[in-house]
Amino acid sequence: MSFIVPFQYKDIYAHKEYTVFAVNEDQPEKRSGYVQGYWRCTHCGEGNQFRLYDDAPNHIAKCPKCRKEFIAVEEIEEDFDDE
Ligand SMILES: [Zn+2]
Repeated sequence: MSFIVPFQYKDIYAHKEYTVFAVNEDQPEKRSGYVQGYWRCTHCGEGNQFRLYDDAPNHIAKCPKCRKEFIAVEEIEEDFDDE
């Protein structure tokens, strides 16, 4: 069973801050090698920012609204390996 951990992400380039849901990582800001992006839940349509740490093209994410897992298909690659 997957779990999600919300945290505040500061986008230093866009000068804004928003909530990101880290999947299966309880210390999201201490770990590198992730993909972060915006995905919509395939069950209820709720869209959120997620940070994913597995390296398949299809990631498992979990919706904070309906609490169901869904496949987050990677469309735009945003890899921040060297954070
Ligand atoms: Zn949902």
